[in-house]
Amino acid sequence: MTIWGYAMSTIKFFNQVNKNFDKAAALTEHPPGLLKQIKICNSVYHMTFPVKRDGGTIETVQAWRAEHSHHKQPVKGGIRYAANVNEDEVMALAALMTYKCAIVDVPFGGAKGGIKISRYKYTQSELERITRRYTYELIKKNFIGPGIDVPAPDYGTGAQEMAWIADTYNSMTEGQLDAFACVTGKPVPQGGVRGRTEATGLGVYYGIREACNVPEDMKRLGLSTGLAGKRVVVQGLGNVGYHAAKFLQDGGAILVGVAEYEGAIYNPDGLDVDEVARRRREHKSILKFPRATDLPTSQDALELDCDILVPAALEDQITMDNAANIKARLIAEAANGPVTADASEALLAAGKMIIPDMYLNAGGVTVSYFEWLKNLSHVRFGRMSKRFEENINRSLLKAIEELVGKSFSSDVVSKIALGADEKDLVYSGLEETMCNAYQNIREIRRNHGDKISLRTAAFLDAIDKVALSYMDLGIFP
Ligand code: NAD
Repeated sequence: MTIWGYAMSTIKFFNQVNKNFDKAAALTEHPPGLLKQIKICNSVYHMTFPVKRDGGTIETVQAWRAEHSHHKQPVKGGIRYAANVNEDEVMALAALMTYKCAIVDVPFGGAKGGIKISRYKYTQSELERITRRYTYELIKKNFIGPGIDVPAPDYGTGAQEMAWIADTYNSMTEGQLDAFACVTGKPVPQGGVRGRTEATGLGVYYGIREACNVPEDMKRLGLSTGLAGKRVVVQGLGNVGYHAAKFLQDGGAILVGVAEYEGAIYNPDGLDVDEVARRRREHKSILKFPRATDLPTSQDALELDCDILVPAALEDQITMDNAANIKARLIAEAANGPVTADASEALLAAGKMIIPDMYLNAGGVTVSYFEWLKNLSHVRFGRMSKRFEENINRSLLKAIEELVGKSFSSDVVSKIALGADEKDLVYSGLEETMCNAYQNIREIRRNHGDKISLRTAAFLDAIDKVALSYMDLGIFP
């Protein structure tokens, strides 16, 4: 089914997630009761509240917060502002958060929030009132707090909204030392961590790079090993899409297509992502980009001739309606749920590989975890060690110089002697997490004779880890 140029799946999003869950669950020996407990959404808070528009009229706004699993606390997940957000969607996204956190060993349960608004229709002051009121509602019902539920940015939200949430929570919980750990993705001066803004896109890059570096997998797809020269199409040039495209381009891939709301552009010789982003900022559209061909809809870009397709906008983009037309060999799910369960089967049957969302976009929650830790410890990463490391490195270089009787250039000294600052540590922690998790999922797939998909392997990993924490509690045998 297609509505306004969007392929719409007739199966609800939470059912799509559960369909994938069931497929993996059938391969485990966990008791059915335990599997059911892992799968269900623990609690959903649906709220409606009034908002005064700048012109004086009153509107009612619908919003949700879903907490999928309390096997670990706090629970964690983004808040999205979108006109079509609904209860089923936040429950599905909360479930994905549970599995995502387990896959990257982040000790949180899964949650997700949504406010049913198109943010572009509201002024900054209206958005501030909506965000603060939403936070107030969450506080009232105990759906937010550093040890309870910690939101983060998602589709349609960013650092500004997180700053409003932190400020509202802080002002209503007088004297709580860890108040700023109630939300992540904040601006750095408000307790954010360096590297959070680009974290999801950077994680997407690490995940794709890791996949491209496995010769057997690339050979099976008919692609060469390594990222260099691979032709990439990215759908959605928001936070995740822009940063993924930027890091992929810097890593040697060629960005041949970009899709946004208004349509898509294509140039087989490559597009510069910063130029495209600048043009969109200035002209409110990516179309008519110099030396590129315009395509009428975002969906057209999904069917472009390329090696790697990165859907980084919303769910339900590749369905049974267009799966047969996808030419990319590797589909990298940067968005949550961009490929429906049936379409996944069709793509795999056609010999393609999908890097699943619940692994690939986990960079955001990984760095959110680092931010939360920073907020609880009240100290910037690297503050205690940077100068110490630098001094050790300088002494080491000096000792080598004395030994060989030659001096390093000041350029070399400044590069090697450098101590790690907060951003270096965050990037390094993220790279370690994404690379390890990928190898882990691949290993699970290999243990099943390479007969299961990476998605099923990722679910198996998540199910086993969540099951283990219930067993630790002694609730299940
Ligand atoms: P965003 O709001 O920053 O960007 C989304 C972009 O997609 C916008 O530029 C929007 O105009 C564009 N878009 C919307 N519909 C489109 C369509 N049909 N075709 C092409 N472009 C379209 O959102 P984001 O934070 O980048 O999130 C994107 C996806 O990544 C979502 O599925 C979200 O759940 C997921 N995600 C985000 C994060 C995060 O840290 N922000 C973390 C994990 C997963």
